[in-house]
Amino acid sequence: MREGQSYFIRTFGCQMNEHDSERIAGLLESDGMVQADSVDAADLIVLNTCTIRENADTKLYGYLGSLKRVKTERPNLRIAVGGCSAQKERDFIQERAGWVDVVFGTHNVHRVVDLLDHAEEWGPVTEIWDETKAASGIPSGLPVRRESEHSAWVTITIGCNNSCTFCIVPIVRGAEVSRRPGDVIREIEGLAASGVKEITLLGQNVNSYGRDLDLNGRQPLFADLLRRAGTVRGIERIRYTSPHPKDFREDVALAMAETPAVCEQIHFPLQSGSDRILARMHRGYTAERFLTKLEMMRSIVPDLATSTDVIVGFPGETEEDFEGTLDAMQRARFDSAYMFQFSPRPGTPAADMDGHVDPEIIQDRFERLTALQDAITLENNQMQVGRTVSVMVEGPSKKDPSVATTRTRGNRIVHIEGEWEPGTFFDARVVRAAAHHLEGVLF
Ligand code: SF4
Repeated sequence: MREGQSYFIRTFGCQMNEHDSERIAGLLESDGMVQADSVDAADLIVLNTCTIRENADTKLYGYLGSLKRVKTERPNLRIAVGGCSAQKERDFIQERAGWVDVVFGTHNVHRVVDLLDHAEEWGPVTEIWDETKAASGIPSGLPVRRESEHSAWVTITIGCNNSCTFCIVPIVRGAEVSRRPGDVIREIEGLAASGVKEITLLGQNVNSYGRDLDLNGRQPLFADLLRRAGTVRGIERIRYTSPHPKDFREDVALAMAETPAVCEQIHFPLQSGSDRILARMHRGYTAERFLTKLEMMRSIVPDLATSTDVIVGFPGETEEDFEGTLDAMQRARFDSAYMFQFSPRPGTPAADMDGHVDPEIIQDRFERLTALQDAITLENNQMQVGRTVSVMVEGPSKKDPSVATTRTRGNRIVHIEGEWEPGTFFDARVVRAAAHHLEGVLF
């Protein structure tokens, strides 16, 4: 036990990593540790890394370099590195940064305390998963230290069976493994009992949930899981991320519409509006098919709020391809979008493709796309003015503590004057729209 010692976790990357960090914190606290306010005050520093973008590894090595000096000054400091970079680079981190005590892979989070014990007794240790171990399932029931008392992530799958040519996830997180529905529902019931009101189901492709499971000859479906999650008392909002357009079926839209707790919101990643580029990305749908599915969802789920991801400047993207993306974005009219400039990720097929686009052209296209989406977002936000919406308080606004930051079921931020307990629900009337938030008053 490390009773009274302190830890500091720095998390890079996506919600999967943030949720893994909550588990790492839970495991360390079960071992007697407490959270430190800063790196300087910590006995243990954990870096939970990301390798999605090219500069992520560079940033990590820069950060590790700065920790070398800290470790020289404080030899008892322990440093652990986990997450996708640790998984992908395997022994590389240990070779380039001998001051790191523990390197652990994406499926070895549950072993973090044992690995620290090992490092303290025997010296630096690296433990990453291999595919045979990944297939054994996802550990359930790990302790978790959540950042929010009212909102929680619930992992339903890890890994991915797709092969999008820009993505490193299948390499660093392996094949898709689903949790059994009973385990997922038990975790949600436990969260509800501890005061959680909002959950987000997490998977790289939630629409293929259950395809690797066999429940007495039947495969569980994501739509059924949504409906079951919706029966857990105390859970008022259910969200999920990410669906995959090629696998999204009507049954999920119907489950959303017919399960009151499931929010009218979807993150539906388009990536490109050009069929030629979608094929090079290996996405498995055309722009028209994507838009038809979006229309189907909107016809079934009233008031559906939508967001997306788009990559600008994928290898081979011509001006005509990019105009296809502008056209698809015009037609889709997403409420918000995460737009990325393509950067080659070593180890992915896209990095070795021909036709890399000039950075200046990428920048120009990115600015045009951003201008278009900003205008659509503002127009969609303006259409919210005058409406009454149900909001959940997240906490005081970072800019002005006399204003509360709240969120609608559609995931829009509404700022409302006043101080309320996080997790409180009430109705608000939207009185003003800005580019990236709304302003409201108590209804
Ligand atoms: S669906 Fe594609 S982008 Fe998403 S995790 Fe799988 S390979 Fe990556």
